[in-house]
Amino acid sequence: MIVTIVMYHYVRRAAESPCPRLNALDTGHFLGQLDYLIRHHTIIGGQQLVAALRHGRPLPERPALLTFDDGYLDHVRTVLPILQRHRVPGVFFPPARAVSERRVLDVNKVHYVLATVENTAPVIAMIESFVATHAGRPDILDPAEYRRRYGVPNRFDGAEVNYVKRMLQLGLPADIRSGLVDAIFREVVGRDEAAVADELYMTEDQVRALVAAGMTVGSHGYAHEWMDSLDPADQEREVDLGLDFLDRVGVDRRDWLMCYPYGASNGSLLDILRRKGCAAAFVSRPGLAELDDDDPLLLARLDTNDLPKEAGAAPCSWTERAFAARVPA
Ligand SMILES: [Zn+2]
Repeated sequence: MIVTIVMYHYVRRAAESPCPRLNALDTGHFLGQLDYLIRHHTIIGGQQLVAALRHGRPLPERPALLTFDDGYLDHVRTVLPILQRHRVPGVFFPPARAVSERRVLDVNKVHYVLATVENTAPVIAMIESFVATHAGRPDILDPAEYRRRYGVPNRFDGAEVNYVKRMLQLGLPADIRSGLVDAIFREVVGRDEAAVADELYMTEDQVRALVAAGMTVGSHGYAHEWMDSLDPADQEREVDLGLDFLDRVGVDRRDWLMCYPYGASNGSLLDILRRKGCAAAFVSRPGLAELDDDDPLLLARLDTNDLPKEAGAAPCSWTERAFAARVPA
């Protein structure tokens, strides 16, 4: 059985956004895409996916699952009322630290920085001067090596934006990286972190309200790290803190779901998730999930930008593939 799983992040009207240049999905486009998905698929919830994976329960034809990462307030304010109006479920993955401790994740600090500057040159200059200051540390690489590794375009970003993101999320050593992110955030954005957290993330009570509304809430870990870069002890700590969060917000964790920050996983992390009873986990690799063949801990997802955003759009190639996979009765 093929499931079309779609990944969403920010969903808001740009005109009403406190940070208008943030790369968000416009509410109108979300509505259009939801209509498109409802026309071509049956939207299923997290529990239905788990029942199919764990107990072989049948799914409706052409199932689609909507997933919302990072615990944004957008998901409570904008997405939830729309899902309720259309009577369809969603799956939400709030990161524990952002929601419970009101700390802005490095990933979001970097988004705010990039949405504030006119071009990336001054940010890159700050990163390179930081690298120069720490040259000589055994875990600091040559600037040219950093450029070679991270100064490459990906599916969504050009070389320079991707370099800034990867250096500040992953490239620099963990013990000094967040300090640099903070310094750049203060210098470029210059706003109080708690105020930004309050405009960005839902609260624990709002997560409980999602659960009460019949939505599925899964784990997105604690500090939103590239978890494949952590050693197994730190991976387990991230997983446990994510599970503590699920307990606090009242999620039944017998068949819990996980979404890897940045889609990043490895063998030791999968072992930990299996040991702790994770029912399904989601990556960010674009593709359709094939429940009969795929590892349930490595389910592919399409990005919202991979699908049409107009209700009346003709089926795109992903949708055609989901149709073609339908098994004749
Ligand atoms: Zn995330």
